[in-house]
Amino acid sequence: NDIELELRRYPAHNQHKSLQAWDSADTLITAHVIDSNNVTSTANIALLNDEFGALAALVSAALPNTHLYSHSDSWISAKATAENLVRNQLDTQIDYIDSLAPLVQCDAVLLKIPRSLALLEWQLSLLNQSLPAGTPIIAGAKVTALTPSVFKLFERYCGTVTTSLAHKKSRLLFAQTQTGDTPTKYPTQFTTTAAETGTELTLVNHANVFSRQSLDIGARVMLQHLPELDANSDIHLIDLGCGNGVLGLAMLARYPNIKVSFVDESHMALASAQASVVANMPDSLKRCQFIASNCLETFTQGECGQVQLVLCNPPFHQQNTLTEHIARQMFKDAYKHLGSGGELRVVANRHLPYGQTLKHRFGGFSVLASERKFVILSAIKRR
Ligand code: SAM
Repeated sequence: NDIELELRRYPAHNQHKSLQAWDSADTLITAHVIDSNNVTSTANIALLNDEFGALAALVSAALPNTHLYSHSDSWISAKATAENLVRNQLDTQIDYIDSLAPLVQCDAVLLKIPRSLALLEWQLSLLNQSLPAGTPIIAGAKVTALTPSVFKLFERYCGTVTTSLAHKKSRLLFAQTQTGDTPTKYPTQFTTTAAETGTELTLVNHANVFSRQSLDIGARVMLQHLPELDANSDIHLIDLGCGNGVLGLAMLARYPNIKVSFVDESHMALASAQASVVANMPDSLKRCQFIASNCLETFTQGECGQVQLVLCNPPFHQQNTLTEHIARQMFKDAYKHLGSGGELRVVANRHLPYGQTLKHRFGGFSVLASERKFVILSAIKRR
């Protein structure tokens, strides 16, 4: 039967109307579940990487008595899913499980193949560890995303894999969990040099972390232009979109009294930043907080006090879509949370029009450094 739903990305007001919150892989996966009759209407179903909750909403609408377990690395995905279920008056039971937690026992796994092969590998290993052998996995993606490397990973973790015919540019892949311990190499770590970060740092990286194998070029430029504070400064700064936490960590290593809030929408990023602090300066953990949020939506200063500095190497895509809206929201939120005289310092690709946004929000900005590909921008909150 046709299912009609209203699905929006999150946050809905920030999105261009042309950007869909679902794709043909979502509908193909759901149609298969309904048509195959393999999944009973009271089953427990795990949903992996349901970007904006389309899978949850479609399955809820078709099989309202199922219990869903949405497993994702994204705080935004969980929020989008919850909103889309409410928007469509779907009150199916759903639990949100972050990407590092084990899965509870399920009758079937519906998996949107993620962009990151490392995340896929982590998840296949986790499925084998958490679920009984033989649990069906129905995976879907755009045909272009089903690369030989994806098939190799499925074969390595699940043995035999079969596929569906392509439909509307997407295709399904059928596999089953296996017993046996096939460990992944995650989390991984790499060590920076004193020339790069001011002091040698070990950076821990879970599977889905940005630039998890080496220092990002933008971060590298920012690290050469970090603010100079008094040696005894005890300010509170935010590492906004912290990834493995390299920017906040470099500041913690330089200034023994500052407090750092690491903020990211990826659970693996936050876990990595925390593990990086523990690996280098375990005593500094008490000067840190780790907050899962869309930009600074859920941020509170807590016991760290008024924020005086925000460091930001902003993302320029959401899932598969290139976008500037996250950076714009980050700058807006930074302005809101900075105290008077506080600074937002940004590293940006020089072709991106961030200067205009900073001017609009802060009333002005300065270019602290300009290199071949990147600029360092600084904006001060005057009031
Ligand atoms: N700070 C790290 C560095 O310099 O290597 C990572 C920078 S990376 C360019 C951007 C980070 O922003 C990623 O870790 C990503 O998960 C995070 N991010 C993306 N969208 C976000 C959002 N809406 N709210 C918070 N963080 C977000």
